[in-house]
Amino acid sequence: MIVVKTKEEIELMREAALVVSKTLGEVAKAVKPGVTSLELDKIAEECIRDQGAIPGFLGLYDFPNTLCMSPNSQVVHGIPNDIPLVEGDIISIDCGAIKNDFYGDHAYTFAIGEIAPETKKLLEVTKESLYVGIREFKLGNRVGDVGYAIQKHCEAHGYGVVRELVGHGLGRKMHEDPEMPNYGKRGRGKKFIEGMVVAIEPMINMGTQRIKQHRDGWTITTLDNKPSAHFEHDVAIVDGKPELLSTFAYIYDALGIDSNEEEEFRQKALVL
Ligand code: MG
Ligand code: MG
Repeated sequence: MIVVKTKEEIELMREAALVVSKTLGEVAKAVKPGVTSLELDKIAEECIRDQGAIPGFLGLYDFPNTLCMSPNSQVVHGIPNDIPLVEGDIISIDCGAIKNDFYGDHAYTFAIGEIAPETKKLLEVTKESLYVGIREFKLGNRVGDVGYAIQKHCEAHGYGVVRELVGHGLGRKMHEDPEMPNYGKRGRGKKFIEGMVVAIEPMINMGTQRIKQHRDGWTITTLDNKPSAHFEHDVAIVDGKPELLSTFAYIYDALGIDSNEEEEFRQKALVL
């Protein structure tokens, strides 16, 4: 069952989305060679609590930490550890928080220093595919339209689109209906309606789409051990159009990146 949100609830969800956005911005300041994912996890937990919010992943389905930290060939759900990141690594960082009783859920794949050009390309294309998908999240379209657009964009570059893990409706629960696969057929699946809020989150592999799960019960890696990227935004349908609730602006601020990629998905100016 899709739980639609009122305009007031969407504004409350925007605050939750901004908590995780701001938190990844704080994390971005510290993402450097030598830092460990556990150190980053601590920064994130503090930042979330300082904003009067609650870490959304900690304890959810018994996950042990605040952030899911998935370096290199890890796709998602990696557990923070004390291994320092090194130049050339990438790391997908997924952050959840509860504010106003609503979840924010947000992910970004960071480059540690200089990375291989083909890995850089994977990150670029995966992030592009996120916006290609968001563009289809509008009144009149269906779940399959978003998945189709993401899949087409990524497969055109020869990348593998993970099938087993999907985006999702978002609200008072972390995972609400509908599931939002990153693959699909045009015009298929549930119809989008005003007031829907979803997390759109392409998980894209440089090589095979196939994945494996580690014995820890959490970590998912690519079957061929090639790199994987993950970007995630929270998006509502407002007045028939996609409205971004989360923002990478804090990350870009920390990394000195200039970008207007989010502008077309915002009906009112972003207040940071
Ligand atoms: Mg997430
Ligand atoms: Mg999610």
